Formats: sequence, C-alpha cells, structure tokens
Amino acid sequence: MNRLTSFFCLALFAIGIHAETRGPAVPDYPLDKVADNVYVIHGPLQMPNPDNQGFMNNPGIVLTDAGVVILDPGASVQSGEMVLRAVSKLTRQPVVAVFNSHVHGDHWLGNQAVRAAWPQAAIYAHPNMISLIADGEGDSWVTLMDQLTEGKTAGTTVVAPDKAVNHGDEIRVGKHTFRIHHYGKAHTTTDIMVEVVEPGVVFTGDNALNGRVTRLDDGDIQGNIQALTSILKTDAAVYVPGHGMSGDRSVVDNMHTYLDTLYSSVAVLFEEGLSDFEMKDTVSAKLQAYADWEDFDVQLGKHISFAYLKIEAAAF
Ligand SMILES: [Zn+2]
Repeated sequence: MNRLTSFFCLALFAIGIHAETRGPAVPDYPLDKVADNVYVIHGPLQMPNPDNQGFMNNPGIVLTDAGVVILDPGASVQSGEMVLRAVSKLTRQPVVAVFNSHVHGDHWLGNQAVRAAWPQAAIYAHPNMISLIADGEGDSWVTLMDQLTEGKTAGTTVVAPDKAVNHGDEIRVGKHTFRIHHYGKAHTTTDIMVEVVEPGVVFTGDNALNGRVTRLDDGDIQGNIQALTSILKTDAAVYVPGHGMSGDRSVVDNMHTYLDTLYSSVAVLFEEGLSDFEMKDTVSAKLQAYADWEDFDVQLGKHISFAYLKIEAAAF
C-alpha cells in the first residue's frame, strides 16, 4: 500500500468510527407550559447515567414575536436536538438566542445542536463562564458526560457561549425583556439567573433546586443563600429551578431554608466544640424535610464539611 492509499484507508476508518460512536437520540420528554409563551422540559433528577443519557436539567423555551429563546439546552448534542424537536412542535420561528445559566455541562453542552441548526443565534453567559471554557473546562465536561453515560453522549463537542452578560443587563428580543441577575459566587462563580420580565418567570439555574440536593463543590453556601434572597425580590410568579419542578416562590424559599438550616446548625454545633463528622446525625435530623430529595445522603456530609470550613475560617 502506498502512502496515499494508506492515508485514505485511515480517513475512511476514522469516518466509520465517528459514525458508529455517536450516541443515540435522547427520547422526547413532555413540554410543560409554565406561563404565557414560556415552556419548560422538566428533566429527570438523577445524576447523568446511561439510562437518562446525561439529560437531567430543565431546558426553557420562550416564544417571542422576534423568534425563540432557549435557556440551558441540556447535557449533550442529543439533548439539544431533543429541545429543538420540542421547539418545532410549538413554532416554525427561528431560534435567535440562548442563555447558559452556569458552567456545569449538564446545562449547556446542548449549545452544539442549536448552533448547528441556527448559526446566527447568540449564546449568552456570564464572562466567568466564557473564560473557564476558554481554559478547557468545557472539554472536561464533555469527557465526564461521556464517562458517566458510558458513551451515550458521544459526538458532543464544546460550543462555547459567545456573548457576555452581567448583572443588570437587559436583552430585548421582540417584545420580551430578559433581565440578568448575578450576585457573585453562589452555586458557582459563573451563575446568571434570567428573569423573563413580562410574564414574570425566573430561571434560577442551580442556585435553586427542587427535589434534588445541590452540589456545592464549586460554590459558596452564604453566597447561594444571598443570591436566593436577592432573586425573591423580583417577586416573579414562576421560578424554574435548575433541576426539579417549577413553582411559585416556595421553590426558592425551600432551597433557602435548606441552606440556612444547614449553615446555622453547623454554626451552633461548632460553638459547642463538635467536629464536622460528629454533627451529621443532628444536622440530618434538622433537614428531615429534604431526606427524600435525590442525593440527600450523598451530599449532606460534604455540605456539613463546607459549612464547617467556612465557619472555622471566620472564627479566626
Ligand atoms: Zn450546577
């Protein structure tokens, strides 16, 4: 075989591999209308796994007179394609904008599908998210998603947001206003909460979850509490959490109570001289209302440690 022939064989082999290793389509999930022209696909609550194919978040769809706006198109190119199929059931209008709530890949790797179908659509995110992705965090998420789903998200690549937005910005799309809220480090350093002003709907990203206990590994408990206190001042009719069912302000209140109870309980026990591993039973008892939330047992020990370290640092 001469060199050219072997090159073509290699190229064909690579194309064959690529076609075979694209993960399967994510099945269609129900589309819930939460307000006039505002829809949410409430994803499953479990961590990314082969069964849910990584899909676990709450993509939002807002219909405006100037086109469609998507919030958090999901964990993979396949999730993004599923969201686009949902859009096509509602309207033939183009997708003109996407908002990414934060850097965690279960929320935004679906950008790829939107960009492929609608190359002109602007993709908005906090500048901290854009710079973390420039530093390679998106690639880490692609790899992690592939591992957690055992290859079901294969074919997914990083399509980063390209338009920075920050606290107080207002993006007009047709007659709709999308107001950006950012209150510093909360769930992550990259969070935006998007208020769709006219019908009064707030997409909280993972600053609020419902029925699933949050990961605080990249966040700050007090910052998260502060962000929730601030977003309640919008007095929106509907709050869409990052995971779990949407609802009225009680969705945000419940998450606030979890974090506040956690932090204040650890502070009291710290004063009594207990170490973090000695606190778990007492703190767990105070948070029994959340015991049936997904990953309660997985996260609680870590949450107590995070709170303990903050309180210990503040004591010196
Ligand atoms: Zn997150």
